[in-house]
Amino acid sequence: MAERDLIYLDNAATTAVDPRVLEAMLPYFTEQFGNPSSVHRTGIQARRALDISRRSVAEGLGASPEEIIFTSCGTESDNLALRGVAWACEQRGRHLITTPIEHHAVGNTLAQLQSRFGFQVTEVPVDHDGLVDPDDVGRALRDDTTLVSVMLANNEVGTIEPLEEISRIVHARGALLHTDAVQAVGHVPIDVDALGVDLLSLSGHKLHAPKGVGALYVRRGTPLLAMQTGGGQEMHLRSGTENLPYIVGLARAIELATQERQVLKRVQQLRDRLVEGVLKEIPDVELTGHPTRRLPNNASFVLMGIDGESLVMQLTTSGVAASTGSACSAGSGGASHVLTAMGYQDPWVRGSLRLSLSRYTTEDEVDRAIAILSTGVKRLRSLSPLYAQRGAA
Ligand code: PLP
Repeated sequence: MAERDLIYLDNAATTAVDPRVLEAMLPYFTEQFGNPSSVHRTGIQARRALDISRRSVAEGLGASPEEIIFTSCGTESDNLALRGVAWACEQRGRHLITTPIEHHAVGNTLAQLQSRFGFQVTEVPVDHDGLVDPDDVGRALRDDTTLVSVMLANNEVGTIEPLEEISRIVHARGALLHTDAVQAVGHVPIDVDALGVDLLSLSGHKLHAPKGVGALYVRRGTPLLAMQTGGGQEMHLRSGTENLPYIVGLARAIELATQERQVLKRVQQLRDRLVEGVLKEIPDVELTGHPTRRLPNNASFVLMGIDGESLVMQLTTSGVAASTGSACSAGSGGASHVLTAMGYQDPWVRGSLRLSLSRYTTEDEVDRAIAILSTGVKRLRSLSPLYAQRGAA
């Protein structure tokens, strides 16, 4: 799928569009180009395609069609969920709860609600595996807490959070629960009722649909203030002419993920092969994230005495696309906020590596990646004074 000879192990960043998804989308650029709000035949055809897509996405989540709002991406879904609920419920309270390991789409939105709009935000801790303890959420809840946002699966280390338990505790205190499920949808079965969430964000490009389309599940009756106002599309919660070809693509990708769940088992076996190979071939490396409660396609590590960025560059020149797992920002010194929250420190925390697989990853690619990684790590460590001094402190 990827560029020839490139071993693409960065599917948590983005995935290749499935050719069947593209095929489903194409007619909506040309013959079926209508605006779903138009009343003539072309518009009615477009409306029908929009309704069918909404039904497919809802089915994939165990939701009802009127609970699905299409957006432009996971970031927009997170922004709408957080600001939309915070502002709709502010008469009741201005306290919000989250975790320190959220994607910046959640973290920075809550930070802005706090710094510019006077909301109070409490972060509950995570343990060394990146897991939230539901009792910590219980202890953080107050009478004025309106919303709790805990991601379903972490984008760096793949840990899957105990949303079911968290939702019972949150609802017992009358608050609402949002989850950022951008990394989870398409990779683990999702049922919004079983999870007990009131809002759930997802994004197309993490599950073989294109970039630029997402959705927000909003449980019926959940108070939500629209962030984008205009013509009243998407149940008046997200105005703007719907991006129909991309919405059709998202729906097709969710259908395929649901119909082809057996693929996940194969991906998980390959991931396990990758983890075992890395741990066997390379000394001073640790798997990060929970050993079992994790996404089936995620293999993330810390490597002692290595700079993750340098390793990723080295892998690129050897034909492997990988990631440090963190979007390093200026001033962070390259340390991931997720690993830091999990208690990682120097000389481990800077040596993060995330390898993420997809349905297109092959066994041969996994084996070659292990060999390339082992050689690259050896080379970098031979140049690293930090690694030479290990154990000396
Ligand atoms: N949330 C998580 C957990 C993510 O991993 C990402 C993207 O990497 C996003 C939100 C943002 O999604 P998008 O790229 O569709 O805006």
